[in-house]
Amino acid sequence: MFRQLFDPASSTYTYLLGDTASGEALLIDPVFEHERRDVALLRELGLHLRASLDTHVHADHVTGAWLLKERCGSQILLSEQSNALNADRLLRHGERVAFGERYLEVRATPGHTSGCLTYVLDDQSMAFTGDCLLIRGCGRTDFQQGSPQLLYQSVQQQILSLPPTCLLYPGHDYRGLTVTSVAEEQRFNPRLGGSSNEADFTGYMNNLGLPHPKLMDIAVPANLRCGRPGVQALVEQAWAPLTFTFSGIWEIQPAVLAEVTGGVSGGVQLIDVREPAEFSDALGHIAGARLLPLSQLAEHAAELIAAKRPVVVICRSGTRSAQAAVLLQKAGLTQVANLAGGMLRWRAEQLPVEGNATQ
Ligand code: FE
Repeated sequence: MFRQLFDPASSTYTYLLGDTASGEALLIDPVFEHERRDVALLRELGLHLRASLDTHVHADHVTGAWLLKERCGSQILLSEQSNALNADRLLRHGERVAFGERYLEVRATPGHTSGCLTYVLDDQSMAFTGDCLLIRGCGRTDFQQGSPQLLYQSVQQQILSLPPTCLLYPGHDYRGLTVTSVAEEQRFNPRLGGSSNEADFTGYMNNLGLPHPKLMDIAVPANLRCGRPGVQALVEQAWAPLTFTFSGIWEIQPAVLAEVTGGVSGGVQLIDVREPAEFSDALGHIAGARLLPLSQLAEHAAELIAAKRPVVVICRSGTRSAQAAVLLQKAGLTQVANLAGGMLRWRAEQLPVEGNATQ
């Protein structure tokens, strides 16, 4: 069984491989924020997660490996070159990772990072290339011990040497493509295919001049702990479909909030933590929201807890309300979620507001 999953925030692909006879499954490159989705899918497909494998230490998203281990007891696997903590098995070139009767072959494909691995299915019908080879492209080579020379050799020797029909599944795609093949990349990859040689490729890569990924300062240290959060303990919340973020707070999406406000028994306490002037400005506020500016929130925490109803905190962009969620959690409130993207996203999704709002 095979499924390709997507994280829109970082354009990351996660891959599920399952052996239906034994029910054993692997996840390649799971994303922290999608742990619930992935666990639900495994359950529905009748699969049990044996291990999660990262292709490398990512700089653009946090791995779901640690969270999945907490939930499913799955092992955490990645390269021995990664220097990561909390892994259960450090992989080397040539090793095998079994799931039921099937297995993945581990190939070292350094170049994007020194610990990049490509996972090849036992019959060489598909390979998971991480950021080594992307569709018509490849991963950058300008940080995390990257090297254009090594990447060129990895792609030529370990990936494009597979059978021409072998399907290649990348770690990301930013244009909506989902899969390619060895023959296709040999022919059309502008950097690595055709008659390009190592010198052409190195010259190209050394002149990309890309900005560093937005999440790099958070994602790399987090992934070096295999996605184990630094401080917060995970307290379950079941009153709505929420997402647990790596920063340790639960988020609710605008459309989900619009649906649950009437549905949760006794209702949800909507707490808007902006300043009074903002509450009635052009963005407006959500019907039934109570204005409690962030500076005054602490003194009202006991009262919110006593109401025994879940709290959703709201602000303009979701930043101040994230702070409010942390504050309320610390005060002892267990059912609290931050409105993802705040009023800006709520309005962008054309959900109804009250106040002086320009509709
Ligand atoms: Fe990467």
